[in-house]
Amino acid sequence: MDAHAGKHFPRPTPVSRPYWEGCREGRLLLQQCGTCGKHQFYPRIMCSHCNGDTLAWVPASGQGTVSSYTVVRRPVSPGYAADTPYVIALIALAEGPTMMSNIIGCAPEAVTVGMPVEVSFEAWSEEISVPKFRPLAAPA
Ligand SMILES: [Zn+2]
Repeated sequence: MDAHAGKHFPRPTPVSRPYWEGCREGRLLLQQCGTCGKHQFYPRIMCSHCNGDTLAWVPASGQGTVSSYTVVRRPVSPGYAADTPYVIALIALAEGPTMMSNIIGCAPEAVTVGMPVEVSFEAWSEEISVPKFRPLAAPA
C-alpha cells in the first residue's frame, strides 16, 4: 500500500509550481526579491516585504532552526495514523522566512526550540516531494 495514501497532497499552482519542481529535484527553492533582496515563503506574486514584483527563485541553504513545535499523537485522519507520534514545527530558515513542516529522524522528545535542522525530502508521488527537516548533523 502507498505509505502516503489518504494524506493531503499539495497541489502546485502557477505561482508555486517552481517550488514543487525544486522539491522534486531535492532542492529547496525560495523566492528572492530583486528590489529589497529579502527572501519569502510561501510563494507569492509580489514581495511580502516591499510589494516588489521582480521575484526570482533561488536555492536556499536548507538549514534553519526550530522556533516552535507540537507533537501530534492522535492523527487528524487515517492517512496519518501510521506516522504518529509526529512533530509539526515552525522552522526559521537561515534566509529569514518561516516554514511549517515535520521534524523527522529523531524522537519527538528530542526536539527542542532552537535546534538546528536541515531539509530532507520525502517523495510522496512522481510529482510531489515534501520537504521535511531533520536534526542537523554535528560538524565533524
Ligand atoms: Zn522586496
